[in-house]
Amino acid sequence: MMNAQIQEREQTVSPRAEALYWQATLERDTRADGAFFFAVKSTQVYCRPSCPARRPLRKNTLFFSTRREAEQQGFRPCRRCKPNEIPAAVRIVQRAAQVLGSDVDEAVNIAELARRVGVKTEALRRAFRQQAGLTPKELAAALRLRKFKKLLREGSSITDALYATGYGSSSRVYERSDAHLGMTPATYQKGGKGMKIRYTTAKSSLGQVLVAATERGVSAVYLGDATEKLVKELREEYTRAEITPANGAFTQWVEEIVARTEGSAPRRELPLDLQATAFQRRVWQELQRIPRGTTRTYSQIARAVGKPRAVRAVARACATNPVSIVVPCHRVVRADGNLAGYRWGLSRKERLLERERA
Ligand SMILES: [Zn+2]
Repeated sequence: MMNAQIQEREQTVSPRAEALYWQATLERDTRADGAFFFAVKSTQVYCRPSCPARRPLRKNTLFFSTRREAEQQGFRPCRRCKPNEIPAAVRIVQRAAQVLGSDVDEAVNIAELARRVGVKTEALRRAFRQQAGLTPKELAAALRLRKFKKLLREGSSITDALYATGYGSSSRVYERSDAHLGMTPATYQKGGKGMKIRYTTAKSSLGQVLVAATERGVSAVYLGDATEKLVKELREEYTRAEITPANGAFTQWVEEIVARTEGSAPRRELPLDLQATAFQRRVWQELQRIPRGTTRTYSQIARAVGKPRAVRAVARACATNPVSIVVPCHRVVRADGNLAGYRWGLSRKERLLERERA
């Protein structure tokens, strides 16, 4: 009985990622913490990559992008590495962001910042190195920048602020996959072959909202005036998928998406099931980090994904985002403040941004 149950478990990362993750697991690489979790079939426990415990056999190991996925498949958090708690380094960086963001003084030195965060200087340096890939020298330089602190005050994350001010490390081995993104890797072929998509539509003050989803998560969110036209677009985008009406399924997801359309803050996680290239996925994840009520430019996003010259590719990735609202591509504007385009109409983009700022 038990065995049959275990064999049904499936990891949620691609084969390419799997090889990288196994290597990181063997090396107990702290830089990979947060990027994925590994689970051990024989002990039914899941861990961070850096867990000090003995390494499992390869054949007993599964990898997950988020801890939720590991838990959904019945794995328990390890007591040694506590993968269900925020790592100390992340806490330190978060606290540092608060201090820096609240402080209007021009320059802060590392020792002073460490004192105010309540840790030793070396611990602060280590946390930044782990979380943002910064050398102590780069960290010191960033702290002297007015712009860096201004971004933090405006609600950017440390990593976003570092990228925007040119200190972001583009050599990070792992893509951060924040648990709240809940994006599953693309396992589908072109045209959505093999996907079973169900859709439903709902009314919002921005018009009709079409929400399409698979068993694994939301795969399309379209906005428009006429329901039939949105369904037609869905069929054109997923020409080879099986598409049927949802008949009342996933109503909570629909409610959440409509609420966000009206400008509400997210209230529940929305798992996504998207077909995407690695680049699109990185851009879309970056878009999900733009705080509500703020905007970014295409070049800021390009820098944030470590490809400062790929501005046009970023714009294309924004334009091809299949899940509007959930991946907030409406929060990207041109450098001169011009709203640029929006697949669902500029006036909708304008109204969305207004509501989120309110
Ligand atoms: Zn562990």
